[in-house]
Amino acid sequence: MQARRGRFSARTTGVAAAAALVMLLPLGGGGERGDDRGGDRGGGQGHGNDRARNVIFIQGDGLGLSHRELVRLATVGKDGQLAMDSLEHAGWTTTDSADPEEAVTDSAAGATAFASGVRTYNGAVGVDVDGNPVPTLLEAARDAGKATGLVTTAQVTDATPAAFGAHVPDRGDQSEIARQLLEGSRPDVVLGGGEDWWYPAGDPGAWEDNPAKDPTEQSKGTKRNLVERAQGLGYTYVSDAEGLADARGRKLLGLFANEEMFEQRNEGEGDLYEPEVPLVDMTAKALDVLSRDRDGFFLLVEEEGVDEFAHRSNATRTIQAGQALDETVALALDFQERNRDTLVLVVGDHATGGLAIENVDPEDEGGEGATAEDGPFDLAGSDLQFTVDWTTGGHTGEATPITAQGPGAARLAGAQRNTDVHDAVLRAMQPRGRG
Ligand SMILES: [Zn+2]
Repeated sequence: MQARRGRFSARTTGVAAAAALVMLLPLGGGGERGDDRGGDRGGGQGHGNDRARNVIFIQGDGLGLSHRELVRLATVGKDGQLAMDSLEHAGWTTTDSADPEEAVTDSAAGATAFASGVRTYNGAVGVDVDGNPVPTLLEAARDAGKATGLVTTAQVTDATPAAFGAHVPDRGDQSEIARQLLEGSRPDVVLGGGEDWWYPAGDPGAWEDNPAKDPTEQSKGTKRNLVERAQGLGYTYVSDAEGLADARGRKLLGLFANEEMFEQRNEGEGDLYEPEVPLVDMTAKALDVLSRDRDGFFLLVEEEGVDEFAHRSNATRTIQAGQALDETVALALDFQERNRDTLVLVVGDHATGGLAIENVDPEDEGGEGATAEDGPFDLAGSDLQFTVDWTTGGHTGEATPITAQGPGAARLAGAQRNTDVHDAVLRAMQPRGRG
């Protein structure tokens, strides 16, 4: 305990030590192959071998163990392994919030637990149960001189990214969240959907109001033109894949949809998972920009479709979103292999839909009160099929798996509380001290 406290308090010394360390290492890659400075062998308890210069915090919204298994069985089969299951350390995290009325968390409270290490009420973004702002991992990274980024297929002002970069008592206050991103936490890179919150009613922005695929979408911002505000603050603004590919500069705002970057509907009712820019491409761009900072970076990456399609008992699209997440994890691991002082973690804030993988059986659960049987789906690499049984349209209260690799990852193994995830990541980012 004493050693831990020592390392926390040795912040000033740590910064100097970290700066000195950076000077000795090649730019753009703190740890080279064969150099285990960034590795975590020996349980991560030693000095200097468990500090993460970079953190890539990957969240599958609604990603429970059964969702990971659904994606595995449907895409690589019984003998296959997903990238997200290949990380060196594995554990699980509880998902509880501190809501006075509901047993099961929502994404705002779930993300606040990860981002700030504080359990709060459902709907709270970056505030505690009394509504007081609580500092976030992204803010801690920024204060340590690191570059920061938020990448999501949700609206960039939706619960998860919001909880890392804003503080509001109500997750619905999305224009205020956007304003706080620009004027408060100021991430260097913000990429995702949700353009409608950035423009006032009547100003469609780059994404037209009332499009055919969802006529309800239209600009509804309450803080004037926040895209203009962003540009005034030095952000390059882009709204499509080409613009993102061409974008230069160290501050980047990309809004690639009016709302989410997909259409979350029941199967066959206009459901669509075709993001304007795939999650993996947004993440690649973010890594390009953020990795130029010699102090390192903190990047949150979220795939939102797993949750949204699980709410709609739509396993086909849940699998697609899960695949997109896994491709992105593979990219992050590739980056981590070249930059060993990077902590990569993959976690779900809660599970959604009560997803059960079952044998195909027409006799199972027919009649009154039947739950939603979905499928059958092919089990990849075999002649077998399985059914997905959705037992709720809401979130569920079980723990979710967490996998991690890189400096500090060993602390994420085993049984965790959701607030422990925050503590472990914060600790991994602390500048190296004497302890
Ligand atoms: Zn949800």
